[in-house]
Amino acid sequence: MKGLMQDWPLLVHTIIDYAAINHGEREVVSRIGDGPLHRTTYAEISVRAKKLSSALKRRGYGYGDLIATMAWNSAHHLESWYAIAGLGAVCHTLNPRLFEEQLIYIINHAEDKLIFVDADFVPLIEKLKDKLPAVQGIVVFGAEADLPASKIDGLIASETLINEGDENFAWPQFDENTACGLCYTSGTTGNPKGVLYTHRSNVLHAMSVNGADIIGLKSTDVVLPVVPMFHANAWSLTYSAPMAGSKLVMPGSKLDGQSVYELLEGEAVSFSAAVPTIWLMLLQYLEESGKTLPILERVAIGGSACPLAVMQAFKEKYDVEVLHAWGMTEMSPIGTIAMPTAAMEGLSDEELWGLKQKQGRAFYSVQLKIVDDDNNEQPRDGVAYGALKVRGTAVAKSYLKGEGRQAFDADGWFDTGDVGTIDAFGYFQITDRSKDVIKSGGEWISSIDLENVAVGHPDVAEAAVIGIAHPKWDERPLLVIVANAGASPSKDDILKFLEGKIAKWWMPDDVVFIDEIPHTATGKINKLGLREKFSDYVLPTATAAE
Ligand code: ADP
Repeated sequence: MKGLMQDWPLLVHTIIDYAAINHGEREVVSRIGDGPLHRTTYAEISVRAKKLSSALKRRGYGYGDLIATMAWNSAHHLESWYAIAGLGAVCHTLNPRLFEEQLIYIINHAEDKLIFVDADFVPLIEKLKDKLPAVQGIVVFGAEADLPASKIDGLIASETLINEGDENFAWPQFDENTACGLCYTSGTTGNPKGVLYTHRSNVLHAMSVNGADIIGLKSTDVVLPVVPMFHANAWSLTYSAPMAGSKLVMPGSKLDGQSVYELLEGEAVSFSAAVPTIWLMLLQYLEESGKTLPILERVAIGGSACPLAVMQAFKEKYDVEVLHAWGMTEMSPIGTIAMPTAAMEGLSDEELWGLKQKQGRAFYSVQLKIVDDDNNEQPRDGVAYGALKVRGTAVAKSYLKGEGRQAFDADGWFDTGDVGTIDAFGYFQITDRSKDVIKSGGEWISSIDLENVAVGHPDVAEAAVIGIAHPKWDERPLLVIVANAGASPSKDDILKFLEGKIAKWWMPDDVVFIDEIPHTATGKINKLGLREKFSDYVLPTATAAE
């Protein structure tokens, strides 16, 4: 028997409609270039998104069209998201830090018809434009008068579109499983693959992460998404903040410690989210300037492993709660969060810090399991490790155009490419990405664990560990270090520092110092690049073993 409740499709523009009606005066503040902060409200954003949507429709764009954006976090970028999705078109976020070849590949692969860009990205688009046959036009965020001089014919100003739009435009109705957003994974192996979000998955994800035990935004919150909108939906904050009625503060392109601090203080931010590198820069700025964080209550950290020192500095020096989260583009993106449960009551501070360093537990709408090489589920004992597989309402079931099929099994589980353990509290701990784990004598060494310990050394700015071929052990760890400016630690200093903090057989076979560790477009250590750089490297222990 079918139930008798209303069939109310979960469409993302219902979020901005909700915010406009119920939190219409709530501000969205943006840093745009070097100008004064730009201020608008959810009510204005909703009207402008409808006008933009209707203008796009008049110009012939509509349901199923791919429309890309390459822009920093701003109210204008947010308007374009809701305008594109509200039309039934798909908003493809482009990461400007990708290599030009990768951008050309993904724009053509997605068959983007139109690209919205911030003015500072026009020179980049100019370089690509001739290689993008499907792209019909470039829209620059801002007014006609501010259009930059460009070799591209017929740049369109977004304000021109908004001015020609109809504010009484009614969103078209369509199925909640309609594609709504597209984001490519950074493709550390092979070409980037497209993750195609649906309206339903984005709405459900925003609702899930707004649970009190997860991100739990409130209307009284002021939210600063430092994590860019072009990286996995800005961790859903572009949906979950208006859904809660929280004030939004959009940081634009300036993500250094001082600029982030100015927004945190100036706009009375209560919650922010970013990758560890950003928080390291902020903490360094606070340290140097002697400033504090009296207003900020909570920060979410994720995207790569977060050193304990960062989490403890927030809590102990600045009284800011850290929400350690793990996720990936394919999961919309939040998958787990290290929030305590009732079962952890009575644990010591040390035990709780130990748990906080893990990637955390699933919340309703996400299922996790770890499996061995034969796909047998492993026990949740914190010891057995395996490949992490996930399922859920906001987890991809395929990549765009059916690529990467091997990652999805017949029962609907997605293989994350991460390996780790799950403990009795349900906490997942990542050991490594499966391709980065170091296989030494049939056992695994976690590059992430070694890196986390090594960055605790006061002279170390960044550390990366890769496996190097070894005649006896198959692979052994090489520790690659970027020293702090002015510091020159020795190999022995570093190895001594690691002693007692890691298992003896994990001790790196060598330590090398370099000026810069390569990073991916999402700011992670580029292990592939590093392995290439050290492809001819011979460990001192390897010659000894021979
Ligand atoms: P990419 O496009 O680089 O794959 P994602 O954001 O999708 O970008 O990357 C997801 C991966 O990042 C995860 O599979 C995991 O390996 C890593 N990651 C994310 N969060 C954490 C975390 N809290 N700790 C350690 N690694 C993390």
